[in-house]
Parts: sequence; structure tokens; C-alpha cells
Amino acid sequence: MHTYPKRMQTETLSMAQEVIPAVNPATLEFLGEVPIMDADEVRAAVERARVAQVAWGKTSFAERKRVMRTMKKLTLDRHEEICRLSVKDSGKTMVDAALGEVFPVLEKLRYVLTHGERDLRPEKRTSGILAQKGARVEYHALGVVGVICPWNFPFHNLLCPAIPALFAGNGVVAKVSEHTSWSADPYLAIMRDALTAHGHSPELVQVVTGYGATGSALVTSGVEKVFFTGSPQNGRKVMAAASAGPIDVVLELGGKDPMIVCEDADLTHAVEQALLGVYTACGQMCVGVERIYVMDSVYDTFVAATLKKASALRQGVPSSEAECSSTPVDCGAMTMPRQLDIIDELLTDAKAKGARVLLGGSRNESAGSQFYSPTILVDVDHSMRIIREEQFGPVMVIVRVQDEAEAIRLANDSEYGLGSSVFTKDAARAERIAGQLRAGMTVINDYGIAYMIQSLPFGGVGISGIGRINGREGLRACCNTKAVVTDRWPLGKGVRDRKSVV
Ligand code: NAD
Repeated sequence: MHTYPKRMQTETLSMAQEVIPAVNPATLEFLGEVPIMDADEVRAAVERARVAQVAWGKTSFAERKRVMRTMKKLTLDRHEEICRLSVKDSGKTMVDAALGEVFPVLEKLRYVLTHGERDLRPEKRTSGILAQKGARVEYHALGVVGVICPWNFPFHNLLCPAIPALFAGNGVVAKVSEHTSWSADPYLAIMRDALTAHGHSPELVQVVTGYGATGSALVTSGVEKVFFTGSPQNGRKVMAAASAGPIDVVLELGGKDPMIVCEDADLTHAVEQALLGVYTACGQMCVGVERIYVMDSVYDTFVAATLKKASALRQGVPSSEAECSSTPVDCGAMTMPRQLDIIDELLTDAKAKGARVLLGGSRNESAGSQFYSPTILVDVDHSMRIIREEQFGPVMVIVRVQDEAEAIRLANDSEYGLGSSVFTKDAARAERIAGQLRAGMTVINDYGIAYMIQSLPFGGVGISGIGRINGREGLRACCNTKAVVTDRWPLGKGVRDRKSVV
């Protein structure tokens, strides 16, 4: 039985219930309402997950894999519906939804199905000087973990943290973003239907809705750990609240990813990747490319080529029908109205300090009220806010650099440290530059794809966050890493044996 299915079936909730209106950002169409849950409701959700976790925590990996396989099948069967819901709730295009929502969730499921058991199997360790003892590490479920989600990829943001937590034997309570809660129930249903299909309680996974206060209530609700994805300022609040427990936190915060383009790069490829890195989901990605440092000798060619390609991008109301037609849109809407103001502010500051807009630079009102035109900004330097603050929008920021040393110095001149990339045909040079970038991830001749490789840990340094998701590190982050010491032979036998020798 689902916990909150009714809110999706009714246009409006009871007048007594405080609600959040859900609106399609591309059309401003009213979609429905979701409840604002208080601390008692959050604690009740945690309690339901905790009861269900008792049995789930005792299941074998074989049983958990059966559930994950069904989750994978349901994701494939419902992929079009998943994308349609994301398009309506977040304003992105169907292609962005397919690539950013469905693909990583399927990869995550494939990873845990193939490697999850190996990653969480007990591991022998050396017992050192205590030769009579056996030593091993075991990975046990924590209990119930809290997941706090942002709005940029509502399906992915809910399932990608929940899958490893469930696979490790935990219950999950997820607080979805107030900007994209409308799609949460059908997304939750994929996990719950998979559990139910194998005779497990669907109550193991819960979704709670509301604003920041609901997220805050989840941190102090008694959950064993919190996985927070969001802004650095709210990450700090989550960490401060978690210290009261204290409970552990993983913080996946923002990024300000640099891309370095060397003079010996394959420029056609670098331009294509720059366009993808900046304009995918209209820049509303934590690993979007926010700063491009181009070597002087290829700078003009790079700028001319990106300008030509970016000028051809089509922006408009995304819909599954339009995208199956001959004129699909490349760029959708901004999910949050406030983001348009932020981009305006950052561009105003940059222009006042000497930056030049080569393309766009304003809202695209012909497409709708929540659209920002694909923009290219040049003559940018590090005194400008747009090079320091996360813009989370479709603005390509290009900086001319004289050499490798300057590129590395400027790339590292940021409080953030999530992703980074370097473009060169010289493998040794690529490694040399990559090794000097202060970031959680560096990709050579591509951008952001470290996330798509689910065997790799994902996370940042600096204000980009603490801890890692994905890969073995992410699975183990969902566990109590327990040290176990045993006798290597029956108690006392070793002592007796030594005495007899003496
Ligand atoms: P946000 O910090 O405003 O909100 C994130 C979530 O936290 C929401 O569900 C919100 O309700 C909740 N929240 C707000 N205040 C809270 C509090 N005091 N305690 C607990 N929960 C609270 O972020 P956003 O605007 O939804 O998301 C955009 C940010 O997320 C950007 O900075 C982006 O880079 C980052 N992000 C990071 C990653 C990553 O993996 N590193 C991925 C996607 C987005």
C-alpha cells in the first residue's frame, strides 16, 4: 500500500492541509498540490520504514537482487512515462530526461546487481602482531537513512541514492524537492511495486514533501544517516543539525566545473562537449560546465565555432509529442523562477566589469516566461561573480588563457571542487594537468561522464561537499563498517600449544 497516493489523484487537497502548488515551469500550467508535512508526519514515515526494515535487513543479497531486477524492468517498461513526468515537473526536454533520469538509474541498478554483493561481502584484514586472531570487516545496514533531494532530475535524485541504501539493507525516507514533488508518487511506485512483487513491505521506502523545514525535520527524526544533495548553504545547515545526534552525513553540494581546452585539443570535439556541458538541461546540473579556459592560440577558433553551433539551438516548450516530430527543442525551461533572476544578476555584474555577451544574455520570452536564452559570455575574469558563484543556467563563460600553468591556476581558483575536464590529444599532458586539478573528479576529453560510470565514486572537495556516492565507496557509505575479531583456533588452544612446546 502506498503512503501518499491520493495527492496525485486529486487536483486539490483539503483546504485545512497546507500545500505546495505544483506548476509546469515551461507552460505555467497548474499540475496539482502536494502536502507540506510537519515533524510528526516525518517521524511517522521514519517509523513505518523502520518497522519494514527489520525484515528487509535480514534478506540475502540474492533476494535484494530479485527486487533490483524488477526495479530495472519497471524502469524500462515505464521509461516514457518517467520522462514525460520529468518534462512536466521540471521543464527539461525528453532527451535530457532520458539521459539524466533514466540512463543513470539503469546504470546504478546494473552496477549494484553486478558488483554490489562483491562490494559488501565481508573482507579479511591482517591481524598484524596478534597472529592468533582473525580480523575482518563486515558491512551492515545502518537502519533507516534519510535522503534530501534537489529539483534538477526528480526521478534520478530520488532513486539513485535510494537504490544503494536499499541494497545495503536499509529503509529509506526521502524528502523530495518542493519544486518537483508532483512526480514523486509514480517514481516512488517503481520502488514500492518492485518490493511488493517479491512479498516485501512497500513501507520500506517513504517519500515526504514540504519545504526546507520538512527536510530539517528529517535530519533530526531519528534516521541513522542523511544523504543531502543541494546547495552549500543548506548543506551547512544539515551538517549543523546532524551534529545534534550526532549522525553521519554525505553532502553533495554544488559545482563550478572548469573545462580546460589546450591548443592541441581536437577542437571539433571540444566544442561539442562544451555545448553539451553548458546547455544540457539548460545548465541545471551540478556537473555542468561553468567555466571554460581556452589557450590563446585556439581561443578565436573555439569561440567562433561555439557561437555558430549555439546560435542554432532551438528553445521552446518541451513535450514528448514535439520531440517526436521533425522540430524537437534542444533547450527547455528553467525549473525555478528565482534562477532567472540569479542569472540576470550575474550577467549584469559581469557586463559592468567588462565582459561581452556574444549570444543571448536575456530571458527568452518568446518561448515562455521561465526560459533563459542560450548565452555566450567572453572577456571574463576572476573578479566577476559569474566565475565564482554557481549560475546553474545556460551561460557559456569563456576565458582566454596564455598557457597550461595559467589554466590550472584559474581552474583551481574556486571554492568549489566537484568535476573538471581537460581537452588535449597529448595523453601525458592530459594526465599532468588532471593531476593538478583540485576536484573530486577529472575527465579527459569529455565532461561530467564520471557520473555515468557508476563504479566510480562521485563527490567533491571544498564547498562541493563531503563524502562520496556511487561505486563501492557509495555502497559502503550506506553501511555500518564493522570490525570483527575472531580466534584463529579454539580459545586457549594456542596458549596450551605454546606451553607444551616450552
Ligand atoms: P537546496 O539546497 O535549495 O534544496 C535541496 C533540498 O534541501 C530541498 O529538498 C530543500 O527543501 C531541502 N532543504 C532546504 N533547507 C533545508 C534544511 N535546512 N535542512 C534540510 N533540508 C533542507 O538546493 P536546490 O536548489 O534544490 O538544488 C540546487 C543545488 O543542488 C545546486 O547547488 C546544485 O549544484 C546542487 N546539486 C548538487 C548535486 C551533486 O551531486 N553534487 C546534484 C544536483 C544538484
